[in-house]
Amino acid sequence: MNKYNEILKELSKYDAKLVLVSKTKPIEQILHYYNMGQKDFGENRVQEMVEKHDKLPKDIKWHQIGHLQKNKVKYIAPFVHLIHSVDSYELLKEINKRAKSNNRIINILLQIKIALEDTKFGMSKEECTTLLSNKELNTFQNIRICGLMGMATFTKDENEIRKEFKTLKDFHSKLKRDYFSDKDFFRDISMGMSSDYKLAIQEGATMVRIGSLIMGSRL
Ligand SMILES: *Cc1c(COP(=O)(O)O)cnc(C)c1O
Repeated sequence: MNKYNEILKELSKYDAKLVLVSKTKPIEQILHYYNMGQKDFGENRVQEMVEKHDKLPKDIKWHQIGHLQKNKVKYIAPFVHLIHSVDSYELLKEINKRAKSNNRIINILLQIKIALEDTKFGMSKEECTTLLSNKELNTFQNIRICGLMGMATFTKDENEIRKEFKTLKDFHSKLKRDYFSDKDFFRDISMGMSSDYKLAIQEGATMVRIGSLIMGSRL
């Protein structure tokens, strides 16, 4: 069995969804997986996503997984399916504004810093609860906060990675209770990549972002 089908089968046992990370990969290779039934693809650069969206079938669901600058939101707002990397109130506000001008509701995840390294983007838990406590948030009618995203420390220490994924899962449960108890759409936890997705699904990921393990290493 090929790697793609093997991973899909494993994910289905945990009810987790695959976002196939296609950054740097050519159109033909994306089409290959599209023709096998893959509809969710992740990109981390806005311009690359826009170009691929233009050239590929329109029922592909594009996931913005990398850091997003405010001034680039307008380029993906007409079509993006889910933005995983929302890490500030200002960015959320801009996404709402651009979603509104496109007459859409844009799904987003709040990115939480769970890794030990401080090179990774994301909000602290405190910053996140401050954001969610902002009353103005209720006026943002064109965004839907669907859950959380996190990236674990790049390490061989599985206990550390597991601990970080647990932190994200626990924080998700807390937010669900405190802010989203009546919102069915607040259910997603995007965590796990090629190297650590097995730990992530065991710890409650609903969505994993896998690139190199399926599509090959990026040079
Ligand atoms: C590139 C990337 C991935 C996928 O990484 P792989 O190791 O190739 O699976 C996942 N998440 C984010 C945010 C990325 O930028």
